[in-house]
Amino acid sequence: MDTQQQAVDSRNPLKCTRCEHVWPRRDLDKLPLRCPECNSPYWDKPRKKEFIYLAVNEAKTEMKIGVTNNLSQRQCHYNGEGTGFKITLNVEGNRQLEKDLCARFAHLLIRGNEWFTYSEDIANYLVSIGAKPRVFTSGAGLARLRWAKATPEDRKRNCDHMARVAKEREQFADIAPDILRLQAQGMTLANIAKQIGCRTGTVCRKLKQYHAAQSSH
Ligand SMILES: [Zn+2]
Repeated sequence: MDTQQQAVDSRNPLKCTRCEHVWPRRDLDKLPLRCPECNSPYWDKPRKKEFIYLAVNEAKTEMKIGVTNNLSQRQCHYNGEGTGFKITLNVEGNRQLEKDLCARFAHLLIRGNEWFTYSEDIANYLVSIGAKPRVFTSGAGLARLRWAKATPEDRKRNCDHMARVAKEREQFADIAPDILRLQAQGMTLANIAKQIGCRTGTVCRKLKQYHAAQSSH
């Protein structure tokens, strides 16, 4: 039964789609604005599909279990951090499932709540609950697709953007040490970009280049 049907039937309590809190309906004329438990104004809106994912680093020494509603964006985030983490498996699931998984493999934790030592057990278990491998289109492939669908205005904007990127490449040639220093202080990449005065993309690219250079030594 969906939330709206549920709400119309006064005998049924209301249920928050965010925190799953259930409470009795008082006013039959209108729905409450917020969930009394988590205070969310979206308590009666369906949640966006979420995915549990497993990311593995290039050296196959670490794994991360995470949750996101945008797998491509999350992968881009890892690319930008230059840590070499790749999302290898994903399955539809929410934060509760993430918590359960993290508790199940707590003996393999290496740091935080969701960074684990590399273990086939984690991957096998995810597959056993229906996780599938995810193949990402390469950056170049995505760019070609986008270009094919772009309007003339989009293309003009893109050219301006590329000119700015090229200019930044020269202007901020050697900022990797600054980025690493600020990152060590716990600043986010977006804030580092703000501080340096360049785009976040430039910060991401510099970091990636720096880490690539380090690992090739
Ligand atoms: Zn709630």
